[in-house]
Amino acid sequence: MIQLVRGFKDILPPETAVWRHVENTAREHFEKFGFREMRPPVLEQTALFQRSIGEHTDIVEKEMYTFAGSRDTMLTLRPEATASVVRAYIQHKLYAADPVCKFYTIGPMFRRERPQKGRYRQFHQINAEVFGIDSPYIDVQLIFMLMTYFSRLSVTGLSVHLNSLGCPECRPAYRQKLSEMLSDRTGDLCEDCVRRLEKNPLRVLDCKKEPCRNAVSDAPSMLDFLCGDCRSHFRAVQAALDAIDIPYEIDPRLVRGLDYYTRTAFEIQTEELGAQNAVAGGGRYDNLVEMLGGPSQPAIGFAIGADRLVELVETKIPAPEPGPVIFLAPMGEAAMELAAKWACLLSDAGVRTEADFSGRSLKALMRRADRLGAENVLIVGDREIEQNEAILRNMKTRDQKSLPMDRLVESVLEHEG
Ligand code: AMP
Repeated sequence: MIQLVRGFKDILPPETAVWRHVENTAREHFEKFGFREMRPPVLEQTALFQRSIGEHTDIVEKEMYTFAGSRDTMLTLRPEATASVVRAYIQHKLYAADPVCKFYTIGPMFRRERPQKGRYRQFHQINAEVFGIDSPYIDVQLIFMLMTYFSRLSVTGLSVHLNSLGCPECRPAYRQKLSEMLSDRTGDLCEDCVRRLEKNPLRVLDCKKEPCRNAVSDAPSMLDFLCGDCRSHFRAVQAALDAIDIPYEIDPRLVRGLDYYTRTAFEIQTEELGAQNAVAGGGRYDNLVEMLGGPSQPAIGFAIGADRLVELVETKIPAPEPGPVIFLAPMGEAAMELAAKWACLLSDAGVRTEADFSGRSLKALMRRADRLGAENVLIVGDREIEQNEAILRNMKTRDQKSLPMDRLVESVLEHEG
């Protein structure tokens, strides 16, 4: 038997109901904040991710599903959505009418990571991106939208972790300092971090391995290196968060796994999911639009890990799975032919209908209707056809009613209306 690919998963009913609840709530909530849905493709040119996420990140170095396309272009299944949204913003000149654009996207992402609980090779993200505003108030509005979204889903026990990653003005000095400190400790670092140290020492702060974490435990903080503009931006973010009562923790180790971030970086963590505790992450990427060939436009966004969010939501609301309103139990060929037509017409008229064409005994059909949680069973056999009356039985009260067969669909609709 052919099985699922490792790290991939099927999302099955009734869990799908929770996914739809999570996604629809995001749509409704985000649209109130002025966001519109964008649906970029899942396949892009590899160069897009190399240039945006960064050559020396784990994602680009070892986690992308890449293959050759036509005419020597390399193609990659998207590992994240921001790069695609930025590409679309530039390619379709979405900034032309108004540089301020707000988009959200919902869909699957692909990373060849080591599969474990809460970490999959195809996972799903709900993203929101804002272009054209560098004000710290938009950072705070975005975090507010995110946290109130979680509240709407009744997900609690979340904390906001906040940092500033500075800008191309102030980050090089920090990078230099960190690099100097870590070069004395290469013996303590993992192989990957020794390599990262040369290309991108900030990545070492992101390593989850114990020896590397110890090696950076007394590392200098980016916050001490912020330039005047970045410092006042970060202060304003904190003041505005205080003003709308969103608690947060400053976490100078928070660098996020992607290179394009500048200034505000944040992560939403939970205590309930074990090692994979980040439910969402985001930050500013003020230089990315220009870096990818667009106009100079500041931007900020976040990505929610929908798989992890669904786990948190699932523990709180059981997926509602309503049974059929009408279960058609036909007996005999003539009855089945009628039932087939009624089932189609009733479903089309908006009544949840299930018909059983197995030809089994009435007792077996009633048992199945009961198992499915049917509200009513409509019984029709040769005798009913002769008398031109089908029997509608309420499964809860056991009441029975005869319905005229020549007006059956209308009668059911009146009965249920
Ligand atoms: P990132 O795009 O790496 O900033 O991740 C944003 C969010 O996506 C994380 O906080 C996770 O909730 C989720 N996420 C990232 N990678 C995975 C994965 N492999 N499996 C499940 N969720 C993931």
